[in-house]
Amino acid sequence: MLDLVIIGSGPAGLSAAIYASRAGLDAVVLEKAGVSGGQVLTTYEVDNYPGLPGINGFDLGMKFKEHADKLGAKFEDASVLAIRPFGAADGGAEGAAADGANGYVVVCDGKEYETKGVIIASGAHHANLNVPGEAELQGMGVSYCATCDGAFFRGRDVAVAGGGDVALEDAIFLARICNKVYLIHRRDEFRANKALQEAIKQYENIVPVLNCTVEEIKGTDSVNAVSVKNKITGEVQNLAVSGIFIAVGINPDSDAFKDLVEVNEKGYILAGEDGRTSVKRIYAAGDVRSKALRQIVTAVADGANAVTSFQEDVM
Ligand code: NAP
Repeated sequence: MLDLVIIGSGPAGLSAAIYASRAGLDAVVLEKAGVSGGQVLTTYEVDNYPGLPGINGFDLGMKFKEHADKLGAKFEDASVLAIRPFGAADGGAEGAAADGANGYVVVCDGKEYETKGVIIASGAHHANLNVPGEAELQGMGVSYCATCDGAFFRGRDVAVAGGGDVALEDAIFLARICNKVYLIHRRDEFRANKALQEAIKQYENIVPVLNCTVEEIKGTDSVNAVSVKNKITGEVQNLAVSGIFIAVGINPDSDAFKDLVEVNEKGYILAGEDGRTSVKRIYAAGDVRSKALRQIVTAVADGANAVTSFQEDVM
């Protein structure tokens, strides 16, 4: 039986792999995409990770992976379908220790892993607009993270799509560095909290574009315009922008675990900073965990905390 199965190889999973390797634990990291790094891989440039200003997201992901490799971390390609208490298959749920004392079986497509504990670091994915140009121009003006990529649009005109807290926070962040920020929302009132709605009024360069949907993101090698359609008048107009920040929500990758651990109404796994979930010896780390700030720096902290909690609980 393994000591630990780490599900996911983004910054949280790789940090957990580094800590587990250094602690001499028999651990394996399961990667769904067959490539390590997670969301960071598609981030054009990361300028808020201490010590590595301006690093390309892909390079940062590779650095994390190389570090884990150097310490002997083991990786396998596997898509996790479920986790069940060890013994549950033979004796039913009653045959298995309810507190996970006998360990768990991580059930994958075609393979199973028996382990004393599990760290779920499966991450989250940004919701997409699913409009023409979005996928093609990702990293070339289409971004899902204003705090990561906003500085590259200094002095330019940009757009933000969405009407929630993140969209309005992004608009304010961008208004401080960009020339003009079109805030495109599909309704006539924002979902974001009232304080943020008041705050955006203080920025003359934030231009709300209400009752409008993004129809297309235009450009060849980089974004040069966004086409929006007014839902009431039917009018279509082109906004000349160098970038668009899409903030239409985030979805945690927790579907395979919802029957086992407690999640909140959005599907994030409920766990404190120590990573402990509602189920013993199952930990959550990184963007899949319910938390206030989803950044690389908090994900790597989560990975370290989850391994430390596992050692306290099991070893
Ligand atoms: P969110 O609150 O779910 O807002 C998503 C926004 O995107 C909504 O305005 C929604 O429009 C719009 N949208 C969704 N799908 C769309 C589509 N296909 N086309 C166009 N627009 C679309 O998500 P979020 O802003 O990412 O925030 C996530 C969570 O974090 C929320 O619970 C939020 O409160 C929380 N958060 C809190 C703070 C804070 O307290 N300071 C800061 C950041 C985040 P509709 O309004 O029409 O549905």
